[in-house]
Amino acid sequence: MAEYHILLAREYGFCFGVKRAIKLAEETIRSGIKIASLGPIIHNPLEVERLKNMGLRVIGGIEELGPDESLLIRSHGIPLDLLNEIKRKNINIIDATCPLVARAQHMVEFLFSEGYKIIIIGEDGHPEVKGLVSYGGGNISVVSSPEAIPDITPNDKLGIVGQTTYPVDKFVEIVKEITGRGWEIRVFNTLCDASRKRQGAVKELADQTDVIIVIGGKNSANTRRLVDIAESEGVDVYHIETWNELRSNWFLNKEKIGVTAGASTPEWVIENVLEKIKELCSQ
Ligand code: SF4
Repeated sequence: MAEYHILLAREYGFCFGVKRAIKLAEETIRSGIKIASLGPIIHNPLEVERLKNMGLRVIGGIEELGPDESLLIRSHGIPLDLLNEIKRKNINIIDATCPLVARAQHMVEFLFSEGYKIIIIGEDGHPEVKGLVSYGGGNISVVSSPEAIPDITPNDKLGIVGQTTYPVDKFVEIVKEITGRGWEIRVFNTLCDASRKRQGAVKELADQTDVIIVIGGKNSANTRRLVDIAESEGVDVYHIETWNELRSNWFLNKEKIGVTAGASTPEWVIENVLEKIKELCSQ
């Protein structure tokens, strides 16, 4: 194969919220406390499997929790009514909610207490968004495009909060559209810097490369956004979870190969992918 170069994105892989959640899980397991996480701790099956082998059980609901187990809340956070139920049941909580997600929850709670009609800019149904919605007391809309903006009268007091991983350009587009429609509007920029930097970096990478490999869980929203951004730049893009999915024909006649990874992709997976790319390009 012709000469090739592998370029890594300027920012990629684990964000601090995910690192914190995994550290909390590992430390708890090492201290001898049994824990189960409510849903996979991150959107990465390989890392979930690694932690499972260490002792972290994944459960679908609190009714599956063992009598001697503590409950790990993952970085996306959970809805308020569920949190209250867990507290009522005196379940021991290991709270790995990302501080940035917790901040967004507090913003929604504040806007609700001040009587604002709340708009969350984000993906309806995403676990983080479900949690945010629960702090809004019911008078709340989730919007992912200007077309989805609810009816607004000029007298409405509007409060806007973003899903932490939402793309900044889409957030700004929707905020601009809403700004023309109401009198009193408060906007909290709750977008996460780690996501913003990874999204900016993949755009840069697309300008410098012929093909981009995006590593991350297929169900990871922030990874899919990296794929969307790279595709919108017109470069060949492949989204993989593991190195076994790589194919040599993806690199035929490609001199510059870009690699990036979602915020829930561990370094050991990225290293294996880099090794496999080198192997395929050397054949
Ligand atoms: S992507 Fe941002 S908000 Fe989400 S866990 Fe990571 S640091 Fe926290």
